[in-house]
Amino acid sequence: MSGEKCFEVLEKIFIPKKKQNIEEIKGYTIKYGNIVENGEIVDEVLVSYFKAPKSYTTENMCEINSHGGNVIVKKILELCLKNGAELAEPGEFTKRAFLKGRIDLLQAESVIDVINAKSEREAKTGIKQLEGFLSKEILQIKKEIMDVMVNIEVAIDYPEYDVDDVTNKQIQEMLDAVEEKLLKLEKSFDNGKIIKEGIKTAIIGKPNAGKSSLLNKILKEERAIVTEFAGTTRDTIEEFVTINGIPLKLVDTAGIRNAKDEVEKIGIEKSREIANAADLVIAIFDSSRELDQEDMEILELAKNKKSILILNKIDLNSKINEDDVRLKEVGGHIIKISALNNIGIDKLYDEITNLFNLNEINLDNEIVITNIRHKNLISKAIQNVKKTKETIENKMPLDIVAIFIKDILEDLGNITGEIVTDDIIDEIFAKFCLGK
Ligand code: GDP
Repeated sequence: MSGEKCFEVLEKIFIPKKKQNIEEIKGYTIKYGNIVENGEIVDEVLVSYFKAPKSYTTENMCEINSHGGNVIVKKILELCLKNGAELAEPGEFTKRAFLKGRIDLLQAESVIDVINAKSEREAKTGIKQLEGFLSKEILQIKKEIMDVMVNIEVAIDYPEYDVDDVTNKQIQEMLDAVEEKLLKLEKSFDNGKIIKEGIKTAIIGKPNAGKSSLLNKILKEERAIVTEFAGTTRDTIEEFVTINGIPLKLVDTAGIRNAKDEVEKIGIEKSREIANAADLVIAIFDSSRELDQEDMEILELAKNKKSILILNKIDLNSKINEDDVRLKEVGGHIIKISALNNIGIDKLYDEITNLFNLNEINLDNEIVITNIRHKNLISKAIQNVKKTKETIENKMPLDIVAIFIKDILEDLGNITGEIVTDDIIDEIFAKFCLGK
């Protein structure tokens, strides 16, 4: 519970073993006792006390730790509500922390990212954002703009002092520096998107090439997170695996796994569909057979894509040469494996690591944008930097230049939430789970 009256509500339902006035209880203490209803013990609990302003929301807060289980937890929640508490909206705790100014919007949003993280790397990026790295960078950029803006305002307000020329040079230098920083942030979204959404990966190959064998090998070794989407004909299943720290989103694994009988095997059309939508295509071939027309169609799908070609079943007599010009043509990397005997799978992992160069992202030193809202605002700010530069080149008066510079500041302010509208705030916090 959070809020001015949370200790009053607590007092009605909690009897501590050692009674104490609330004024005497310090923040960050835990008390042991019972939750009671009409004199009857509901559960034996521990209650943590947090006193304003030193709490998550900056308000008075308490947390009741019960033995858990649905019935007891529900009962305690009901008791809180019956005695004056109100149910929190999704994200309300974090929203209060934001509205009271303890954290900015960027940090609040990173709480969602941390909760929803599907990989360690994603969680790490979220934590870094929660610590305020991105906020600091944005504030720094804003400060650079403000420093110049002050001079501009002076020049506008006191035109009798001829400061125009100096200011123009200053503005230009400032805009260049700001643009460079923003572009770097914008570019980091490529990696950020991968960290957050995973590399959309399609495994394609003709029937019996070994798709599901490979898939199962990958899924068995790496702990996969499965997300299901109800499709029109058959459910689409996407599975998340992390390989060498790189999150992969394997698409349509239902299609691969369920295709047990010949009739149901994924046809070339379906393969085309998945390959087109993928960031990475893994095309697999049965190396114990000559390449045939169907293989050629699969090869065609791997062209012009980031792709890895796999010659599978190397435990059998090989009929395909890895120097085959038809394979070379595709330009993808060729790897020989046996999915059945678990040979060469690590070479595949190394190749994925090389292809996506994720090792280059040093999470300790670099700020990575993972949120599309932030990316869009940064892109918008860059556009406004460009517009401002044009107004200067076109020798527009300083007050016009100032208007454009204010637009840049507004874009940046929207990211950290200083000037954000209620609608946007509601939209952001609606993404939270209840009570976070
Ligand atoms: P899919 O139709 O592409 O999903 O192919 P499967 O994974 O179902 O494999 C087809 C057949 O090839 C199965 O009988 C597998 O056991 C077999 N298979 C898969 N990989 C290998 C391999 O590396 N070596 C051998 N000898 N057989 C394999």
